Amino acid sequence: MKKISIFGATGSIGRNTIDLIRRAPGAYDVVALSGGRNIEQLAADAREFRADVAVTAFPELLEDLRAALAGSDVEAAAGPQAIAEAANRPADWVMSAIVGAAGLVPGLEAVKQGATLALANKESLVCAGGLLLRTAKAHNARILPVDSEHSAIFQALIGEDMSEVERIIITASGGAFRDWPLDQLREATVAEASSHPNWDMGQRITIDSASMFNKALEVIEAKEFFGVSPSQIEVLVHPQSIVHALVGFRDGAVMSHLGAPDMRHAIGFALHWPERRDLPVERLDLAAIQQLSFATPDPARYPALGLAWDVMNRGGLTGAVFNGAKERVLDHFIAERIGFVDMARVVAQTLAWADGQAGLLDQTMTLEAVLHVDHLARQETDRVVAAGVA
Ligand code: NDP
Ligand code: MG
Repeated sequence: MKKISIFGATGSIGRNTIDLIRRAPGAYDVVALSGGRNIEQLAADAREFRADVAVTAFPELLEDLRAALAGSDVEAAAGPQAIAEAANRPADWVMSAIVGAAGLVPGLEAVKQGATLALANKESLVCAGGLLLRTAKAHNARILPVDSEHSAIFQALIGEDMSEVERIIITASGGAFRDWPLDQLREATVAEASSHPNWDMGQRITIDSASMFNKALEVIEAKEFFGVSPSQIEVLVHPQSIVHALVGFRDGAVMSHLGAPDMRHAIGFALHWPERRDLPVERLDLAAIQQLSFATPDPARYPALGLAWDVMNRGGLTGAVFNGAKERVLDHFIAERIGFVDMARVVAQTLAWADGQAGLLDQTMTLEAVLHVDHLARQETDRVVAAGVA
């Protein structure tokens, strides 16, 4: 039996992973499940799969979790340290699906014990790509991308030589405001930004899709994961979300991956890799879809996207600043302290501030340095917001 753990089990990616596990009774031995505030769901899944341990990120919820697990053999634990310890328990396959930089440490712990890491948590590659990849290599652990675009690129590269890759093209749906008049974006509400035209995902990534901060993170994720240069990455708006990514080769050939917008494709691919198995996803009917369209993203509509190239070209620990600042502006937007269009402006200001701090971005990429820079970036973002967005 394959021993598996799922971090962020109660979220959108976590639920989809559990759906696949549930369809294969007896195939998986669940070691650890982690969640946040959804204690009821976490406990129900931990009981169903007889996990060794269930961990909530929040220490104040430990008693609730214990109560919900009473009478079962599942151990209850709480807090970031307990999540890290659970990730260090031997497992063959670990799903990293916590949202935000909180997913970094459990991912590092999982690769340290040699597990195959199925990586949905793009933030860990954005804020500490070099560190995560280096740690995985040192422990002979494999990382498989779960972000749909990166899974698509990975699949298009099977059997290919990276030195023959000319470019990588990542598609973007364009999000909730793709067709809005530009001057209305200023008024966009949290509820409006939280609905995605094609994908059913967690609230934070859905809002990041509307702003294209999500695509900016994915561009950086692609650079880190596939080791290409920033100038080799392109983004195309593709409203149907059927073509997930394309890879162009030196002879002009382009290979792409198509599929219905269902995360169980990418999760299942990572779960069964290097084999392919049956997956309960809708089969494509291109005749019914009729048209696939593509367009260049408008920088005036998606100012966040261009920041990805500033981050990659500056290098060093800039990704940690970008991600930390992005997480905070999203908190401030959700709390209605800033408007939708303010998010990219504040992140750009925080990036400029960090670049002006002598030596800050050029330290060696250790976990301590990443966490420190992340903390400073959040503080600076809060300061800019409190001072009133210019
Ligand atoms: P969700 O918000 O749906 O789920 C997040 C998970 O993390 C939940 O289990 C949540 O617990 C838990 N969590 C929240 N805060 C913390 C914390 N501080 N520490 C530890 N755990 C926490 O997110 P998604 O599933 O949408 O996304 C997860 C990751 O996958 C993100 O990095 C996202 O970018 C990436 N991703 C998601 C895709 C999707 O289709 N959803 C597609 C591609 C990538 P609880 O809910 O119990 O509070
Ligand atoms: Mg994606």
